[in-house]
Parts: sequence; structure tokens; C-alpha cells
Amino acid sequence: MLMDESEKDKVAEEVANGSIPIHQIEKFAPDANEEVEIRRLAVAKVCKIKLGSLASKETDYSLLKGKNAENVIGMVRVPLGVAGPLKVNGAEFIGDALVPMATTEGALIASVSRGMKAINLSGGAISRVIEDGMTRGPVFELNSVVDAQRFVKEWLPKNLDNIKAVAQGTTSHGRLKGIKPKIQGNNVFLRFTYDTGDAMGMNMSTIATEAACRYIEDNFEGISLVAVSGNFCSDKKQSLVNALEGRGKSVVAEAVIGERVLAEVLKTKAAAVNNVNYKKNWIGSATAGALTQFNAHFANSIAAIFLATGQDIAQVVESSSGYTITEVRGNDLYISVTLPSLEIGTVGGGTGLPTQGEALSIMDVFGSGNPPGSNSRKFAEIIAAAVLAGELNLLAALATRDLGKAHSKLGRNKKQ
Ligand code: NAP
Repeated sequence: MLMDESEKDKVAEEVANGSIPIHQIEKFAPDANEEVEIRRLAVAKVCKIKLGSLASKETDYSLLKGKNAENVIGMVRVPLGVAGPLKVNGAEFIGDALVPMATTEGALIASVSRGMKAINLSGGAISRVIEDGMTRGPVFELNSVVDAQRFVKEWLPKNLDNIKAVAQGTTSHGRLKGIKPKIQGNNVFLRFTYDTGDAMGMNMSTIATEAACRYIEDNFEGISLVAVSGNFCSDKKQSLVNALEGRGKSVVAEAVIGERVLAEVLKTKAAAVNNVNYKKNWIGSATAGALTQFNAHFANSIAAIFLATGQDIAQVVESSSGYTITEVRGNDLYISVTLPSLEIGTVGGGTGLPTQGEALSIMDVFGSGNPPGSNSRKFAEIIAAAVLAGELNLLAALATRDLGKAHSKLGRNKKQ
């Protein structure tokens, strides 16, 4: 039975004065939607402000309860635009994609769209997933390096099939592809790599790895698990291991932009874009001490697409690692982007929420693919091609010294 306004207000007052902890509101509310209302009332009382615009009556909060967030008080609304369409010639996705991007950075979507126009007029972007595998890297401790070496060199290879069977017993889509060991003193790191189908796969691979760790502890005397995540994964942190070995999807997108398109759409020449790329993305990034980010602004497109489509936004950190390569070919420009650790999914996490699911549907990649895994690979191909468009346009805008002008016009609403 629903609560009337005075009942809600009474519970909110008790939360505000500390008699009821905020996470225990669910004990007093009949459903997830009432719960959110009471929590919002309580926060408004504590902060002495009105929380009008956070109140989203369109959202059914029962869809995210126990899955996506705790202590929920509403939905933050971020503007959602579309860039494109973009012609993508992938191995899985061939066609024109409209790319949803959620952002508050004026000029971003227009910038990516101009890059897409140049790519379309040049025949489209070729896009390929070159590696695919989500990782979890537990850390174990042993008595000495002698035991660590015996474990890694002798026991692990002999028991790999058993570990695989135990890990895969926890999931119907996850497949253990391999384990990469690393000894540090008396510690052993194992980097488990899984095929996770259409899921980004972090929960899936954590659950599978926990089962594998229990098997290892039960069957190798003297080994002890310190943590199922030992940072050799590496999740939500920039690392060389992700850039070298890959994490999630490793993707390359490329295009050759003709001289005429460069002149008419981007108002520049191949040599000018190539020079900016070399001096900025390579010499500049090296001078700044960059480890894995030799690019102009992968993070812009990645963050906006992640936010729109329910990806884990913290994984923008390593998903925006990567390299932009250009070559002058006659008077044309070859440009490619390599994203070694793009961590995305079309099922699981936040992808099933109504608005995020609709954003995935705009690209026809919502949910499970047929065969499983094909939707997430299509999605990865589209993202890489969109990132390519963003790089092309920004490098061209820098070459023609138009960056400030575009931001002033579209980011500050100032007429030129
Ligand atoms: P998930 O929602 O936990 O799991 C995906 C689910 O989808 C599984 O139950 C899987 O079933 C099912 N599934 C159905 N069709 C599928 C298909 N075609 N391909 C793959 N799976 C399919 O999602 P997840 O991707 O594993 O994890 C993502 C979540 O993990 C995000 O919310 C993220 O924020 C969070 N996260 C967790 C950690 C952690 O340490 N646990 C770290 C970072 C992020 P089966 O398993 O039976 O195949």
C-alpha cells in the first residue's frame, strides 16, 4: 500500500534527524519508487534546499534497485546528442551508425560530426576488433620465490584444465582464454583473461576468478590469496599491461581522407594534420611523460558514449588509452586510431536501464547478439570509428587554428 505525504514526511524527518540511517529507508517504504521519494525529502531537509530537478517521475526505480546504485535520490540528466551518421566498414558492423553521445561540453558532438562527414566522403572508416578478452588479476602470497616458481612453472600448467572447468562453471557465457603469471618476490600475480560474450564482463570474470582462486588454494599447499584484484588486471587504472596485452576489446579504426575532402570539409592539407599529430600526440605526449595515451582526445568521445550507453564510466581511464597514427600518402591523409583496452558491453551493468538501452538501440546493438559476442564487437567497431572522427577533426581544427573559435561559438554561445 502506498504511503500518504504525511507518512513519507514523518520518515524523512527521522532520517534527517539521524534516527533512521539513510540506507534503511527501504524498511519503511512499500516499494523502490516511494523509497526514492522519502530519501529525496530527507536529503532536502538536511541540506535545506528543494530538489526539484533531480526528481524524475519517468524512471521506475525498481529497475535499478539492487543492481545499479544505492541510496538513490533521483536521476542526473545529461544532454544527449547524436553524431553522424558515420559510415563504418567493420567485420561485424557494416552500415551507417548514428552515435549517441551524452555530454555537457559544447562543440564536442559538432566536432565529431564534422570528422564523420570527412570520413563518409572518403568512403567510410574501416574498423576491426583485433583482440578480445576481459581480465582479472588476483595476487597470491607464498613462502618464498622457490615455492612461487614451483607453482608457476610446474603446478599451474598441469592444472590449467581443472582451473578452466571450475571458472567456467560459474557462467554460461564466460570462457577462460588463458592465465598470464608474474612473480614478484614471494608473490604471484595471475592475469586471467576471459571471453565474456556481449558483457563487459567485470562481474562475470571476478566471480569466475574467485572460484578458480578457491580451487588453487585448496590444491596447492602454502599458497594464500591476498586479493582477487591485485591491480595486474588492471581495472580503472592506466597501465602498460593493458596497453601491451589488451583488456576488453582491442580495436583499430582507419581511413584515408582525400585531398579534396581535406580542403573542402576540414579546410586543411594532409601535411598540416600529419605535422600536428606528430608534434602534439607523439612528441608532446612523450615530453609530458604519457605512458599509454598518445592521442588528442579519445577520452572525449569515449566518456560521452559510455555515459549515453550505460558503460562503467570509471573505465574511461584505460578505455581512452591509445594511439593516433597519421601518414601523408601523396596529397591524401592516412589516419588510424588504436584502442588497446576498450571495455564495453551491450548486456549487463547499466546497459539495461531504459534510457541507456535506447541509446544502444539507436546503433542496433542493444542486448545479446546472435551469436553472443557479436553485438559488443559491433559496438566496439562503431566506437573506434567515432573516436577516429573525433581525432581527425580536432587535429584539423588545431592545424587551422580554429579550436578556440569553435568552443567560443558552441561552448559559450558567443556569435563570431
Ligand atoms: P553482469 O550484469 O554482472 O553480468 C552479465 C550477465 O549477462 C551475466 O549474468 C550473463 O550470464 C548474462 N548474459 C546474458 N546474455 C549474455 C551475452 N550475450 N553475453 C554475455 N553475458 C550474457 O555484467 P558484467 O559485464 O559481468 O559486469 C559489469 C558490471 O560490473 C558493471 O555494473 C560494472 O560497473 C561492474 N564492475 C564490477 C567489478 C567487480 O570487481 N565485480 C569491477 C568493475 C566493474 P552468464 O554469466 O550466465 O553467462
